[in-house]
Amino acid sequence: MPAMRRIAMISAVFMILTGYACPARPAFASRWSPTETGGGELRRIAVVIDDFGSAMKGTEEILSLPIPITAAVMPFLPTTRRDAEEAHRRGHEVIVHLPMEPIRGKRSWLGPGAITTDLSDEEIRKRVNAAIDDVPHARGVNNHMGSKATADPRVMRIVMDVCRERGLYFLDSRTSPRSQAAAEAERVGVPLVDNDLFLDEVYSASHVHKQLRKLALSIDRQPDIIVIGHVGPPGLITAAALRSAIPNLREDADFVRLSEMLPEPAPLLKWK
Ligand SMILES: [Zn+2]
Repeated sequence: MPAMRRIAMISAVFMILTGYACPARPAFASRWSPTETGGGELRRIAVVIDDFGSAMKGTEEILSLPIPITAAVMPFLPTTRRDAEEAHRRGHEVIVHLPMEPIRGKRSWLGPGAITTDLSDEEIRKRVNAAIDDVPHARGVNNHMGSKATADPRVMRIVMDVCRERGLYFLDSRTSPRSQAAAEAERVGVPLVDNDLFLDEVYSASHVHKQLRKLALSIDRQPDIIVIGHVGPPGLITAAALRSAIPNLREDADFVRLSEMLPEPAPLLKWK
């Protein structure tokens, strides 16, 4: 067996045994063998799409992309369960898109069950657990908005405690330069990854294409890249731009689920 295939098989078995990867991978099994750079490094892209949960524009177009994505599903919304089940059924990864208080912005943008800095420790713990319970198949958590709440060490300590207890990883969407997510994740041993690039904070095809060109250039310098896009107002634009960029990006990198990019789990962490 060629060396790369053997490494891919061993790591696949490792991921299943450790709970890193969902064993049911119907659509994308052929994408398991990693792409190597000239220097022997693996290059991987994880595409995370936020704001699932209310049948927003682009939901079907994103879920039918020919790559595994990580679907960040908001809790307590009309299609929360349906979107999470459908994403899982198609072999995508599901995470909880936890609404968290921003510095600016309306409370109504946050949605139900939001984590705000005025809540008691007990209430935050209750809300994070309820959000995780509401999103089936969740493997991790990331923040929706949250420029204020992620910068609050007390709030993030509780969020990370719950992530550890539930065996979930955390993706810091990086909406605040003062985010306490990394420090608190490290304290309790929760695997943490960071967003590298937002694809569609401006709702135009030219902007999303520009961000995808940035991604194509960055992949030469940075072997693992995490990008975040959205369903909703930019959903159709983002889905179409990704679909057209995938063939070229695939020549240089593999598309992976977020859990495949995690650092080694800390020994105290118990995986589901
Ligand atoms: Zn969001």
